[in-house]
Amino acid sequence: MHSDLDRILVSSWEIQARVIELGRAISEDYANTGQLLTVGILKGSTIFMADLVRAITVPVSFDFMAVASYGQSSSSSGVVRILKDLDQTIEGRDVLLIEDIVDTGLTLNYLLETLRTRNPASLRVCVLLDKPDRRKVEVSVDYLGFEIPDEFVVGYGLDYNELYRNLADVWVLKPGVYGKKRNSESRSQNSE
Ligand code: 5GP
Repeated sequence: MHSDLDRILVSSWEIQARVIELGRAISEDYANTGQLLTVGILKGSTIFMADLVRAITVPVSFDFMAVASYGQSSSSSGVVRILKDLDQTIEGRDVLLIEDIVDTGLTLNYLLETLRTRNPASLRVCVLLDKPDRRKVEVSVDYLGFEIPDEFVVGYGLDYNELYRNLADVWVLKPGVYGKKRNSESRSQNSE
């Protein structure tokens, strides 16, 4: 099962410690607001979100969105297709978007622009992993787990061809497995 994996980049212990810190910071920041609505982006953020919400001590409710990039040719446009939209209106709500990884920033930028048009009371972002080297558009991340180098990673919710999401650690995939295919192209074939 692990023959495609190169090495552990972020261990489960590091993740758990950071998740506790993030949960504490989020709980403090939302201590005086109403109920927090956490919006997880399927499927990559599910494991992170499950741990994070249990580290948050203010009242929280959940919703989810699923998105996919349009084809390779338009991936640079950052236009994503919404495969599953929110179940509820976010007007007047305090929304915390939870994403697994930000790479070019195009997906997050699109999601934020889309959600902003729905007039939430506030909209913040919590991301587990940030790969700043390939950023194409600036996105402001309010709560970040770890900054990592430009390598293709799997585990703790992140997949390669739908595998490895269940790994407790974040691993680097062997370069030969991933080949020269870039992240955004891979993503265009599979929804998160
Ligand atoms: P962006 O629009 O920021 O380029 O793309 C973000 C999305 O690309 C992530 O939500 C994820 O689905 C995918 N992605 C980017 N880098 C990686 C990576 O290293 N591993 C995995 N599994 N997915 C990645």
